[in-house]
Amino acid sequence: MPIDGAKVMTPDSSVSSLKGVGPKKAASLAAVGIKTVENLLYSFPRTYEDRRKKVKIAGLSAGEAAGFEGKVLSVSGKPAYVARGRRIPFTVLVGDDTGAVELVFFNARYIDRLLLPGRSFRFFGTPRVGAGRLQVIHPDFARSEDAATWADRPIMPVYSLTAGLTQKDMRAWHETALPAAASLREYLPADIMARARLCDIAYALANIHFPTEREALSAAKYRLIFEELLLLQTGLMWLKTGRGGQTAEKGIRFQKNPPLSSFEKLLSYALTGAQRRTVGEIYADMETERPMNRLVQGDVGSGKTAVAMAAIWKAVHSGFQAVMMAPTEILAKQHYAELTTVFADVSVGDNASSGNRPLRVALLTAGVKSAERKEILAALAVGEIDIAVGTHALLQPDIAFARLGLVITDEQHRFGVNQRITLTKKGGRPDVLVMTATPIPRSLALILYGDLDISLIDEMPPGRKRIVTKAVSSGKRGKVYALLEDELRKGRQAYVVAPLIEDGENSDDAPIPVRSAESLYEELKARFRDYRVALLHGNVKQYEKNRVMSEYNDGEIQVLVSTVVIEVGVNVPNATVMVVENAERFGLAQLHQLRGRVGRGGEQSYCVLVVNSESKDAVARARTLVETDDGFEIAEKDLSMRGAGELFGVRQHGIPNLRIADLARHAHIVSRVRDEASALLASDPCLKQPQNADFRRRIDAMFLDVSDLGI
Ligand code: ADP
Ligand code: MG
Repeated sequence: MPIDGAKVMTPDSSVSSLKGVGPKKAASLAAVGIKTVENLLYSFPRTYEDRRKKVKIAGLSAGEAAGFEGKVLSVSGKPAYVARGRRIPFTVLVGDDTGAVELVFFNARYIDRLLLPGRSFRFFGTPRVGAGRLQVIHPDFARSEDAATWADRPIMPVYSLTAGLTQKDMRAWHETALPAAASLREYLPADIMARARLCDIAYALANIHFPTEREALSAAKYRLIFEELLLLQTGLMWLKTGRGGQTAEKGIRFQKNPPLSSFEKLLSYALTGAQRRTVGEIYADMETERPMNRLVQGDVGSGKTAVAMAAIWKAVHSGFQAVMMAPTEILAKQHYAELTTVFADVSVGDNASSGNRPLRVALLTAGVKSAERKEILAALAVGEIDIAVGTHALLQPDIAFARLGLVITDEQHRFGVNQRITLTKKGGRPDVLVMTATPIPRSLALILYGDLDISLIDEMPPGRKRIVTKAVSSGKRGKVYALLEDELRKGRQAYVVAPLIEDGENSDDAPIPVRSAESLYEELKARFRDYRVALLHGNVKQYEKNRVMSEYNDGEIQVLVSTVVIEVGVNVPNATVMVVENAERFGLAQLHQLRGRVGRGGEQSYCVLVVNSESKDAVARARTLVETDDGFEIAEKDLSMRGAGELFGVRQHGIPNLRIADLARHAHIVSRVRDEASALLASDPCLKQPQNADFRRRIDAMFLDVSDLGI
């Protein structure tokens, strides 16, 4: 027989080279992305069973996996028998000196030839209560004489399974594949491994699958989580800078004068401590040559606009133009109105020849007439307009600036990174300020905005009354309407939000009735005849939306029924009631955003969450909102309940799937990883040095399936 040298298994070998993997099993594995031995090694256990835990039979308790030893006392039933759709189990009574327990097997063909009465075995399984007594369904077992082999595998891996795969298969294949791990070359930079005290990859893979003890498992897990976050973070930073080489970019050095105090004089209120600190951080960035890339996070109503205006103030006084982009026309108009009011009497030095002239603000949205637009574009191009406020319309290629120095995007999560970059390209290298009301947990923000510094406005302007939040069942709708009517009578306004536009939209046969904005609109119109009720949703034409919003703004419309189109940034201080129907259909963070639409004036405001579900989860979620108004706490809860991907459109941000790291649970590792990633890229911006080549290949592999990074 020829000696088959090619049979030596390497990480690159196909899984078909493993014993027991035929074409069918290989197809099942391929369906979950496992094609090579290396893929297999990197598919980690879902959890573990600790087989060292051995108890006496009397000590078994329901729900607790445990090992026990005993002698087969009697057997009954059929090992493989199905009669008229009924499964008749094979039961085995096993006893020790403390008692006996029933083992149950369904369809286990040869079991009756193994579990013979009188023989002793070591078992492992999870007892449960069935037929009124404690039972163990399908325990693993070995002859007591052979049980010593279990000592090598005290902690057994439990893998996620898909159709066609069994736990036994997976364990056996992993065991066979493990020697290949030893031939994997370490790819993490040695200095990082030393600083973070990481074990090497061969040890990590061996112990993530078959740990000999808890400590080994912890070390393996830590290494693999750290590695995954490091690859992710370095990859994102690296890709965002166009694969390195842009670290020493030169931007604008704005003047130190005038001081913030001269801006504050333009406001009718004093800045809060948090606003002042944030502006301080922004000014420090602006005064250095390094381009600013800063994210300002502030809960709804924390006063981000004032902070933006302070930055604009500095930019225009240094002789630069500023642009501020909002995600909706409604918001852009609001910003425009605020800026023109605050900067009404401000003059700027244009250039040496023309002396001072009044500061000029322009609004650029899709709704601006073409003649006016032409005039604005011309004035922007020669620098006669200092500030442009608008929507996506600002991104059009024919819009050019004479000397763009500052780019501000409001409610960033509505824009892609590429749109931010399109705007910055309209200037030399303008400073960038991104504002968001979505309280993104820090761990996630570090990843999503890996290229941004972060400021936090963690204090509300004084005098705000806490919004009274109530969760009610749909049966209490009468009370809700009574509250609504009370407020309307006082001259206040209300929002009513529903999850759907029209009835019958939900395809999933929800057992719970889901309200549509259209049916609510009809109901409320009939009920509140003395008031004007309007309807707004995604299918309403833009000009109609604008009309409704401006009438609501002016108080001509009192009740606004809508879907979540009003979620973002609308500011109507006279609105004091927010009713959310089918609150269980919304995410916590989204509900918090909706609630932030009220309580923006001095009046007491109310948020009523109508929960149409008895489910414990729905009630618990609503209670979180009732109990806290801290956006970050809510976001953390939301993150742990729903996972990062769903919450912030992580995939949209170009985040690959993670195998072992969890951005919520491993937040403490993220910041450490971030420092290592920046240090690594600082020393090797293009990851070109030979010692980083393997690491770089890993990054490429990780981002392989992320088609659009949004840049
Ligand atoms: P957001 O952070 O949600 O964008 P805004 O900038 O719209 O918040 O501010 C919400 C309201 O609070 C506005 O009416 C604004 O004029 C007001 N405001 C902002 N800062 C202060 C402050 N320091 N003191 C009092 N009111 C303030
Ligand atoms: Mg805002």
